[in-house]
Amino acid sequence: MNNPFIHFLETHSGIYLFDVNTNMISKINQRIYKYLSGRSRKEDLVDEDILIIDNMKDMGMLCPNKIEKINHPMTDFIEDILENSLERLTIQVTQNCNFRCEYCVYSGSYYNRVHNNKRMDWDTAKAALDFLEQHSKNSSEINVSFYGGEPLLEISLIKRCVEYCHVRFKRKKVSFNLTTNASLLSDDAIEFFEKENFLIMISLDGPKKVHDKNRTFADKKRGTYEVVIERIGRIKEIAPNFLKNVTLNAVLDDENDFALIHDYFANEPVIKDIFVSTNYVNDTNRKDKITQNNQKNYIEICNEKFIGLMYLMKRVTKDKVSKLVVREVSDIGERIGKRTVSKQVIPAITHPGGPCLPGVQRPFVNAYGKLFPCERVNETCDEMCIGNIYDGFDIESVKRLLNIGQITAESCMHCWAFNFCTQCGVTADNGEKMVPEVRLAKCEAVRNHVDNLLKDYIVLKECGCDFTQTL
Ligand code: SF4
Ligand code: SF4
Repeated sequence: MNNPFIHFLETHSGIYLFDVNTNMISKINQRIYKYLSGRSRKEDLVDEDILIIDNMKDMGMLCPNKIEKINHPMTDFIEDILENSLERLTIQVTQNCNFRCEYCVYSGSYYNRVHNNKRMDWDTAKAALDFLEQHSKNSSEINVSFYGGEPLLEISLIKRCVEYCHVRFKRKKVSFNLTTNASLLSDDAIEFFEKENFLIMISLDGPKKVHDKNRTFADKKRGTYEVVIERIGRIKEIAPNFLKNVTLNAVLDDENDFALIHDYFANEPVIKDIFVSTNYVNDTNRKDKITQNNQKNYIEICNEKFIGLMYLMKRVTKDKVSKLVVREVSDIGERIGKRTVSKQVIPAITHPGGPCLPGVQRPFVNAYGKLFPCERVNETCDEMCIGNIYDGFDIESVKRLLNIGQITAESCMHCWAFNFCTQCGVTADNGEKMVPEVRLAKCEAVRNHVDNLLKDYIVLKECGCDFTQTL
C-alpha cells in the first residue's frame, strides 16, 4: 500500500490512527496496525480487516497525498485586508515600567528590547489612531489596546487617545483594553476605565510569597504584591460592577508551589470571583533556557487536569476545576473536538497551522511608530517589523512572516502534526532573524503536545464525553 499520511496513537484501550488528510481518527486492530506500519503483508489480514480498510478509504482516509509546496492560502488576500479591514491596534504608550519582573520579555533575560525611558508622544499616538482609521474602512467595530512597559505611567496619553477615538471613530463601535500591573491604578483611573467600559488584564501570580519572588519594583528590593492586591480590592470597593471587566493573568513559575497558587486563586476573598488566565514562564527567545522538572508540581497539575477532564465528562461540577488548568483542558475540545473533518485531501499548496495573519489579528505599534504582528515579538529583530504608521505595511515582510513555514518546508510537508502546528515567526527568531534550526528545535515539543491532546480526546470520547461542557 502506498504510504498513507497517518500517525499512530496508543492509549490504554488500543491503537488508533490519525489521518492527516481528513483529520479523522479511527481505532484499528493489531493486524491493521502492523500492515499499515509496514510490518506485515496484505496476506496477513483477514477479510474483516480488508473491509475496514476499504471503508476507511471510502471516507477519504489512508490517502498518500502529501503537501507539495508551502504557501499560505491568504498570501494573495492579506494586502487587501490590511489596507481596508483592520479592526484593532495595540499601542505601546511607553517602554518603561515601574516593576522589574524576572521573566518579563523586556527584563534583559530575553532577546528583546529592555525597559528604557522611551515614551510615545501624542503626535505618534494620534498618527497611530489615524492609521487605524485609514485602514478600517470596511470595519464597523474597532478595538484599541494600551500596552507598555507599564501603560499607566502614561495615563494622560491614554485618556487623550480615548477622547480622540470617540471623535475619529464616531461611526464605529469602539472598545478599549489595557494590560497593567495595577500598581498605578488610582481611584480616578478606575472611574475613568469604568466609564469607558475598558477590559483590563492585571498581572498577579499568586499569594505574596509567590508573586514577590518574580515581581519586584524597579529597585529590585521590594515586592509588589501588597500594592497590587490593595488596588484590586479598591476596584471591588468603588466600582464593584466593573470587576466583571477585569481578568487576572498569572505566570506560572515551576519553582513555585502549584498547589499553593491553586488554593490562593480559589479562596482569596479579594480575587476569588475574577477570571484567571495562565501561562508558563516564556522560554521563547530566552537567553538561558528554563528547566521544568518540579515533580511535585507535575503531579499536582496532572491531578487538577484530571478533575478538569472529569468535568468535561459531567462527573464533577465546574467549581471543582482549578482556574489554573482551564486553558489546557479547554484545548482538547477547542482544538481537537472542533477540528475540521473532511473527505477532501489537504491542498497540494498550503501552510502549516501556527502563524496569525500578521498585522490583522493583533497589530502592535511601538512607541516609535513601528508596526509588529503582536506585542509578543522581539522588537529588536528587523524581520519582525511589518512596517510603520507613516509609510504603511511592508507587505513583503508581512508575507514572509505569514509564510514562515517556507523556511522549514521539507520538514513541514511531511509532518503529521501539520494541521495543529502552533509555531509562528516568534518561535523561529534567534534574536536577530528567523532561522530554520531554531524553529525545527521546537518541533518535537509541538508534536508531543498534539499527540497528548489527541490521546486525551480519544480517551474522553471513549468515556462518553460529547464536549458540550464548556469551561
Ligand atoms: S505570537 Fe505569533 S501567531 Fe501569535 S499573534 Fe504573535 S506573531 Fe501572531
Ligand atoms: S511541528 Fe515543525 S515540522 Fe511540524 S508543521 Fe510545525 S514547524 Fe513544521
